[in-house]
Amino acid sequence: MQKKSKIIYLDYAAATPLDPRVQEFMQPFFGSVYGNPSSLHKKGTEAKQALEESRAFIARTLGAQKEEIIFTSGGTEGANLAILGTALAFENKGHVISTQTEHHAVLEPLKHLESLGVKVTYLPVNEQGFVSVKDVENAIRKDTFLVSVMYANNEIGTIQPILEIGHVVAKANRQRTLKKLPSIIFHTDACQAPGFLDLSVNKLGIDIMSFSASKFYGPKGVGFVYLRKGTKVSPIAFGGGQEKGVRSGTENLPGVMGMAKALELAVKNSKKESASLAALRDYFIEQALKLKDVKLNGFWDSLGTKPGHDLRLPNNISLSFKGVEGEDLMLYLDGKGICVSTGSACSTGSTERSHVIESIKQKKDYIRGTVRISLGKKTTKKDLDYLLKVLPEVLKTLRSVQGINS
Ligand SMILES: *Cc1c(COP(=O)(O)O)cnc(C)c1O
Repeated sequence: MQKKSKIIYLDYAAATPLDPRVQEFMQPFFGSVYGNPSSLHKKGTEAKQALEESRAFIARTLGAQKEEIIFTSGGTEGANLAILGTALAFENKGHVISTQTEHHAVLEPLKHLESLGVKVTYLPVNEQGFVSVKDVENAIRKDTFLVSVMYANNEIGTIQPILEIGHVVAKANRQRTLKKLPSIIFHTDACQAPGFLDLSVNKLGIDIMSFSASKFYGPKGVGFVYLRKGTKVSPIAFGGGQEKGVRSGTENLPGVMGMAKALELAVKNSKKESASLAALRDYFIEQALKLKDVKLNGFWDSLGTKPGHDLRLPNNISLSFKGVEGEDLMLYLDGKGICVSTGSACSTGSTERSHVIESIKQKKDYIRGTVRISLGKKTTKKDLDYLLKVLPEVLKTLRSVQGINS
């Protein structure tokens, strides 16, 4: 009998497998607990109670209040609510500050706002992908109503100085209060953060924070936003008035229950998990950089990263190889049972270059040859050694084909 070949999954930044404990926890909510949380009878109350327990748990985890958690269908809806909802509350007039390396879930609603007449400043990043806090401060205008900067980048793993940006926004808001100007709202797309980064909303000074359960071993198609009390946000979907009227529609109860359980597990083990992933990451990077014509994207401390100074997601590796197409590399590795992703979130058939890799000014002949290798709970050193073993031959094959074609 033929041995079933093993898949080496290294695309945890795109999707994490559902934790079996989460799956089990969700079961009753696909079955016996079927009431609508908005119904006032026994079955509704039962569902409502479960929903509110999850809300309270998520709030505690962020150091927030229960009323400040709004359930959504995922990270994209959360970012859209933060961006379109604040803009609508300001009558789609004024100015937004963001960065060039945001996820499309942020960039696309911003583009839409521009078409309505809102002005948007997309701040550049440096070669490691960091936005400058000074740049944020200098970009603030009298009519600025929103600053939206992601917590950690999904392609290159760079962790932005969110705490410092929060300070700058708070400082501007103190002056604005005296001048009777409305406060600037600070949103961060935190989809890549759970399990790795501090989520204390008060310490970080964040007004809106958006999350997606499918990035932390929870179910797909569910997420939440933290929405600070008193923050001006208009709904972007209207209906039955669920979720304090901010997000109408029957809540995804099994999803929400799974998300709360997944968050509990992610936070509980985050220190240990982060340390072991960072060790695997650094091992792989050191080995990979011995290959010919390869560059690392994102944060890297050449002196060796000191604890507390690790400004790269523990599970992120982004490499650019000279003279190959990232998509070819991805497909070749897939043929060998290894799942990675290209630098770009490209649609089928398109060879569009990643806006993130362009923003960090990667060299022209490397930019297309970008792959993201993202690690997770099941990743072993053996998996990475196998990838290190097959990489040179795959690169050699691709480069020789490339040589013939050019
Ligand atoms: C995955 C992701 C999103 C989108 O989340 P969905 O749940 O897929 O809508 C947004 N921002 C970042 C940084 C992400 O990684």
